[in-house]
Amino acid sequence: MAKAAGAVFDGKEKCWKASVDRLDALLPFVPYRYRPDRKPPYIRPWMVPQALWGRNLRALLAKEDWDRIRKDAYARAGSRCRVCGGRGPKWPVEADEGWHYDDATRVQTLKGVIALCPDCHAVRHWGKTMSAGRQDEALAWMMEVNGWTRAAATRCADEAMEQWHERSAYSDWRCDISWATTHYGVTTIQGGDAIAEKRNQSFVQKASAQYGSRGGHASYIQHLLYER
Ligand SMILES: [Zn+2]
Repeated sequence: MAKAAGAVFDGKEKCWKASVDRLDALLPFVPYRYRPDRKPPYIRPWMVPQALWGRNLRALLAKEDWDRIRKDAYARAGSRCRVCGGRGPKWPVEADEGWHYDDATRVQTLKGVIALCPDCHAVRHWGKTMSAGRQDEALAWMMEVNGWTRAAATRCADEAMEQWHERSAYSDWRCDISWATTHYGVTTIQGGDAIAEKRNQSFVQKASAQYGSRGGHASYIQHLLYER
């Protein structure tokens, strides 16, 4: 009898352990916002220095290579946002390039591409969102996802803009997309640098026309939220 009870207990233990193992296996699919091993901020502005505007995988790779990389990011995330788990109303997710910035060597290094819903993506590209007049929505979303007060979200956005200003004072930033080569075997298309440069100039002209320029770069950084 005791043996039978032990067998049942062992069975439950094994079952429980198998469930925990399965949960561990699922962790990479759990949106950051709900992961026990992550803390806020789950989403915050991550602005690209002006010298690097337009210098992204869309410009540097063949269309089919970029499509393969971004669709792989969507598939890995089940077409849900990696940060909040949500989906956009018109299209579910967009591809966000995760860049690391080395301020000493001024190299922007690609670390990966993830799926984000349009709301989270709008927070990441704060400058673009602001120039479209959508910063209030983005600020509200940052508060919601991170569980922040308005003051905390505003401070974070202002710090991101100040950092953008510091980084945009340099024109010698370089871009390293070797992650795409290592993981997908793709390389920059011929003329990719020229396409990126042209896109950069077009974006800079547009921003300067909207906000004026100061010290060689668009001055929308001057529009800090605390000063509005
Ligand atoms: Zn999201």
